[in-house]
Amino acid sequence: MAIKKNVVFNGILLYRRNYRENDMLVKFFTNENGTKMFLIRRGRKQGFKMSADILPFTYGKYEGSISQDGLSYIKEPIETHHYQQISADILLNAYATYIMSLIDTALPEGVANHKWFNQLFYALELINHAIDPAVVTNIVEIQLLELFGVQPWLRDCVICHRNDLPLDYSAAYNGLICSQHWHMDPLRFGLSQRTVYWFRKFSVVELKKIRTIDLNQTTKTQLRKLLDSIYDDTVGIHPKSKRFLEEMSQNRF
Ligand SMILES: [Zn+2]
Repeated sequence: MAIKKNVVFNGILLYRRNYRENDMLVKFFTNENGTKMFLIRRGRKQGFKMSADILPFTYGKYEGSISQDGLSYIKEPIETHHYQQISADILLNAYATYIMSLIDTALPEGVANHKWFNQLFYALELINHAIDPAVVTNIVEIQLLELFGVQPWLRDCVICHRNDLPLDYSAAYNGLICSQHWHMDPLRFGLSQRTVYWFRKFSVVELKKIRTIDLNQTTKTQLRKLLDSIYDDTVGIHPKSKRFLEEMSQNRF
């Protein structure tokens, strides 16, 4: 089992759970080594010196040992930060947790993915800075489809490749179909052209470049329904964190 010692890495904490009597397992998405599980010895003991550096919704730079296929270890934190607003708000908390569980499911363990490390970092930054968390979540969900092996065709009509007619999403064709071909899928979604516009835009947007997003409620509802359907029927996953988020958002809005 190969272990690289005294390695400096940048990590975003995905989740943590209790382990044995005094220990903790903490999963990080590291920029250098992808997702990795760390064993934090005595992490549940009172007065543990690193406890602030491994709180939920923490990111930072650490030094430690990275194991290729077993558990990794943190020797010491170098610089850590918290997403304060996310920590303080249970709904933001639920959105962030869902995004992180999706990314964790989509990525193979231990394989570096700088693009997604950055996307996750900025997704959490945006949510932390009061950008609509439902929309940030939609963007992550749309862009992750590729990693789940589902890449909807959004460039033009999947059948005739026209781009000048109204488009709608068809699950049967796994992509957009133009109004001339709407009769070929009676179960198409009936999306507004505005929703189609955002769906396409969100499939390519870099979260880093977003400053504001303002979507009307109809568009948000259509996107939510569309993505629920794609994730339930085509991707086939419905994480526990999503059920929690659904209950939370129903109570809040
Ligand atoms: Zn067509």
